[in-house]
Amino acid sequence: MSLRVLINGSKGRMGQALADAAEEMGLQLGAAVDVGDDLAAGLAKSDVIVDFSFHSVTPAVLETAVAHRKPIVIGTTGHGAAEKAELLVLAAKVPCVWAGNFSVGVNLLFALTRRAAGVLGADYDAEVVEMHHRFKKDAPSGTAARLLEIILEERKLTAEALRHGRKGITGERQPTEVGIHALRGGDVVGDHTVMFAALGERIELTHKASDRGIFARGALRAAQWVVKQPPGVYDMQDVLGLK
Ligand code: NAD
Repeated sequence: MSLRVLINGSKGRMGQALADAAEEMGLQLGAAVDVGDDLAAGLAKSDVIVDFSFHSVTPAVLETAVAHRKPIVIGTTGHGAAEKAELLVLAAKVPCVWAGNFSVGVNLLFALTRRAAGVLGADYDAEVVEMHHRFKKDAPSGTAARLLEIILEERKLTAEALRHGRKGITGERQPTEVGIHALRGGDVVGDHTVMFAALGERIELTHKASDRGIFARGALRAAQWVVKQPPGVYDMQDVLGLK
C-alpha cells in the first residue's frame, strides 16, 4: 500500500501544492487537516505528518506526533531561536525531518554558501537578500535564516553579528557584520541571494523558485525517507545525502 500522508495546513498555499504533488507521486492522502480539524483523528488514518501551517501550531502538532509515535516532516517557518531549541528536544522523540527549505536547488545553495564563506574569508562582506510574496507572515524567511546560520558558523560569529536592514547613521560596515534584507511583494515564490563583496570583486549566489511544487515534492520525498529512519531530527541535506 502506498504511503498515507496527513497534510497539516491543507487549505494553505503549500497544503494545496502538497495535495497535487502527492497525487503526482502516487502517494495517498490520509487526511487533510486545517484550522478546527481533529489532527489526532486524521493521524489514525495516516503514516506520516507533513506540516506546513503556522509557527505557533508546531508545539501541539509535535506533541500529537510523539503521543501517536508518528514520523513527521516540518516545513513551517517563523520560530524564534529559543522556541526552536525547545521544539527540537520534542521532535527528536520521533523520526523528524525539519527543514527551512525543501527544494533540491536551495539545499545545493546551502552547500555552496558554506564553501564560499570558508574560501573567501572575512575580507568578503557577506549579505543575504531575500524576496517573497506579499502574503508571507514572517521575516526573514526560514531559508535566509539557514543561510545566515551557515555564514555565522563558517566565520565563527554569533547572532549578534546580524544586521536586519540598515537605517540612519550606521557608521562604516564592520567585517564582523552579516547583513540580512527581506523584500516583500507580489507573487514571488522565493528568491535568495548570498553576496560576498570585497574591494574589487563581488560574488553572488542566487536561487529563484518559481513554483511551490519544488517544496512540496521535496517534502514528500522527505516523508518517504523519514518513515524508514529511527527517531531523531534530520534535515534535507540528510534526505539528499549531501552531508
Ligand atoms: P498559508 O498561510 O497559505 O497556509 C497556512 C495554512 O495553515 C492555512 O490554511 C491555515 O488555516 C493553516 N493553519 C493555521 N493554523 C492551523 C492549525 N492550528 N491547524 C491546522 N492548520 C492551521 O501559508 P503557506 O504559504 O502555505 O506556508 C505555510 C508555512 O510553510 C509557512 O510557515 C511558510 O513559511 C512555510 N513554507 C516553508 C517552505 C519550506 O520549504 N520549508 C516552503 C514554503 C512555505
